[in-house]
Amino acid sequence: MNTRSQTRVPARIGNRVSLRVGLIGDPVAHSFSPRFQQAALDQLGIPARYELWHTPADQLLERVRSLCEEHCLGANVTIPHKEAVLPFLDKLDPLAERIGAVNTIVHRDDYLHGYNTDALGLLRALHEQGLGELLPDDSVSLEGYTAVLLGAGGAARAAAFGLASAGVEQMIIINRHLERAQLLATEVQQFSEQPVFSLSDPSFLIPHPRSIIINATSLGMHEDASPLPTELLERFDPDTFVYDMIYNPSQTRLLCQALAIGLQGANGLSMLLHQGALSFTYWTGRPAPLDVMRSALVL
Ligand code: NAP
Repeated sequence: MNTRSQTRVPARIGNRVSLRVGLIGDPVAHSFSPRFQQAALDQLGIPARYELWHTPADQLLERVRSLCEEHCLGANVTIPHKEAVLPFLDKLDPLAERIGAVNTIVHRDDYLHGYNTDALGLLRALHEQGLGELLPDDSVSLEGYTAVLLGAGGAARAAAFGLASAGVEQMIIINRHLERAQLLATEVQQFSEQPVFSLSDPSFLIPHPRSIIINATSLGMHEDASPLPTELLERFDPDTFVYDMIYNPSQTRLLCQALAIGLQGANGLSMLLHQGALSFTYWTGRPAPLDVMRSALVL
């Protein structure tokens, strides 16, 4: 989507510069992103609107093209288009390329750049929960932890590459369809010196000390169901942390199980916050006002 012929001058409405950024997906109406992105834009006095751009698959190309308009900063991308947008972009960040999914598009220098902020967003969310260490370059180290990753879809792919970059001691990917877990484990292993395993049946899981269990399946979002039985969770050490990427409902069955037996846990709201904050910085070049965004999300 090369738009070299255009210069990026914000459109003017009256004396006001009017910029746009938005969320591309289907559906989008349920999204929490406008709440905290608009609060951040307003806080920094950036005259931009964060909009919801409901986009069925047959309108995706047209929608992505519209991001090249001079007053458009870019977009977030959500289900089901995170993978489908890749061929429509001019440049891909290496991490997004590895993950194979883009959740942030930036219109910069007349090009559309694709990024994935889910990976680092998850690591920052885990660090905020007291896990790992923030390094001088702002990356997060999870050395010494075992990651148990539930799922092998888009969010799990971002998590797996993020966790590998954070240096987890080992990673176990568990997915209903084993072949997807195996494929992801093989791909991640190429970028990791630590072992990456795959499983389809969680009952074969051997608990390790200092484990972080991450739910990246959608199980628990639409139904009162859990990807792990309580008997299995009970085998883990009390310092095990359960992070559920689902934030709506705020307490999934998995989280309730974990908290009820004394494990620590959190829902995915903090990941949503941090991936959004990273997107904000990509669009605006400004540090995201995290506190304002957090308040808007009512963490
Ligand atoms: P996705 O690509 O559709 O992947 C869905 C995953 O869930 C797959 O691994 C799938 O397993 C598994 N799954 C679905 N139904 C299942 C069931 N009944 N039993 C067992 N496994 C099941 O979705 P996604 O984009 O990765 O999103 C996954 C979740 O993460 C969603 O709830 C999403 O809202 C959440 N998320 C949160 C954030 C955040 O910022 N907090 C960011 C991204 C995503 P199979 O491969 O076997 O089908």
